[in-house]
Amino acid sequence: MEKFILSIDQGTTSSRAILFDKQGQIRSLAQKEFKQYFPQAGWVEHDPQEIWVSQKQVIADCFKQNNINPDQVAAIGITNQRETIVVWDKYTGEPICPAIVWQCRRTSDFCQQLKVQGLQEKIQSKTGLLLDPYFSASKICWILDNVSGARERAKNGNLIFGTIDSWLIYNLSGKKDHITDPSNASRTMLFNIHEGKWDEELFEIFKIPLYMAPQVVSSSGSLSIVKDIDILPQEVPICGIAGDQQAALFGQGCFQTGQMKNTYGTGCFLLCNTGNTPVKSHHQLLTTVAWKINNEITYCLEGSVFIGGAVIGWIRDELGLIESAAQSEEFARKVEDTAGVYLVPAFAGLGAPHWDSDARGIITGLTRGANKYHIVRAALESIAFQCKELVNSMQKDLGKKPTLLRVDGGATMNQFLMQFQSDLAGVLIERPKVLESTALGAAFLAGLEIGYWKDLGDLPYKSQNTVYKPTKSDEWIEKLMQSWTKALNRAKTNIN
Ligand code: ADP
Repeated sequence: MEKFILSIDQGTTSSRAILFDKQGQIRSLAQKEFKQYFPQAGWVEHDPQEIWVSQKQVIADCFKQNNINPDQVAAIGITNQRETIVVWDKYTGEPICPAIVWQCRRTSDFCQQLKVQGLQEKIQSKTGLLLDPYFSASKICWILDNVSGARERAKNGNLIFGTIDSWLIYNLSGKKDHITDPSNASRTMLFNIHEGKWDEELFEIFKIPLYMAPQVVSSSGSLSIVKDIDILPQEVPICGIAGDQQAALFGQGCFQTGQMKNTYGTGCFLLCNTGNTPVKSHHQLLTTVAWKINNEITYCLEGSVFIGGAVIGWIRDELGLIESAAQSEEFARKVEDTAGVYLVPAFAGLGAPHWDSDARGIITGLTRGANKYHIVRAALESIAFQCKELVNSMQKDLGKKPTLLRVDGGATMNQFLMQFQSDLAGVLIERPKVLESTALGAAFLAGLEIGYWKDLGDLPYKSQNTVYKPTKSDEWIEKLMQSWTKALNRAKTNIN
């Protein structure tokens, strides 16, 4: 009986289950979107039970669709939206309130207060992160302070917290195991990335009892087993855990220091493997844990752009300039260039390297001759400009120019964008055939543990790549970047 690795990929907008075979090919895939809740401006919530139910459903669908027997699952790997936090009752397993999602800005003021108290430096040196509501710690504190009776229940030892990986494993294991891995823990702002463990002082700063935290295990190992779930056989081992971006880094085969990948989804996330060294960023990137395997932590540097492929959704849905995301390519090719039009999609502020949460979107350089094709092209180019800035920060922090960028995510289907990105960044781009790098990474972490693949060299991440080569001069790049920077400065709040 052929065996597969089941990858559970719990994303921000949908839950997915994918069965991978030994060749790293997708043998079955099921996906289901779930509801996003926006109870107030800037707030984003999910229902933890809805996440769990949708996840179970896609696992069941994944088997059904291709007539695969659940007994064919050799092991499970889990990857998930990061930073999003659930607090639940230790005894009943009931969440005490909705999950607070990474995008939620409700703790902005609290983070600002901590900045005023001068805590940024200490927090960055311990966690590698910049003080921002994006991360979990301030969200947990908010729940304890604002959900009726929560502080008291926490004081009495009745509540526990976890990122989405913890929440899923808790449920998959029949409410037995409360664990997480270092790639997820490192996004909570409570984890000391140098010592590889929870940091008591940070728990005090964020007023969270330490006992509430999950046990931090490895990213690959015998981590948990399935118990009492009707859709899966008893005791299937859960052997891999990683946050979505780190899983994609692994799925792209970036095992060596200096190798990097960029994901072009809703946002864009550039991660570079820095080996055993947690490199401190001086250019507004984050230092984070990539994974922990065989007791060894691998670190990475990360740059995040909040609006990437989502700008194409915006020109489609809000401006009605295109009918489908794919049409953006056809329209962009109808013009030679943007005729001086720049679109800065700072709809949710700007992430790395600017971290300007009050910046807002802008279109500049409009003339009487500007048309919709120019604007569509400017929207696509804005994705590449933002990623070029991440590459520049990476180059400054690492002291050398990257030569190869491995890419994945929905917007990499756009050939115009990929060639423009290669030209603008001056780097070779490789896009694998299997674009599900995130799920593949989680499958790899699980498969390595059980010997489904025997070592890193055995992992089938090299699927026929599409390659884009840079073709432009430094002067061409410089000129475009100068114009982009001018437009960017008009969108930012901290430039007068
Ligand atoms: P996520 O995992 O963040 O939901 P995906 O990796 O599925 O994102 O990518 C979807 C994003 O890519 C959407 O924001 C969409 O607008 C964009 N996108 C999809 N196809 C194209 C295309 N051909 N050209 C440009 N953008 C695209």
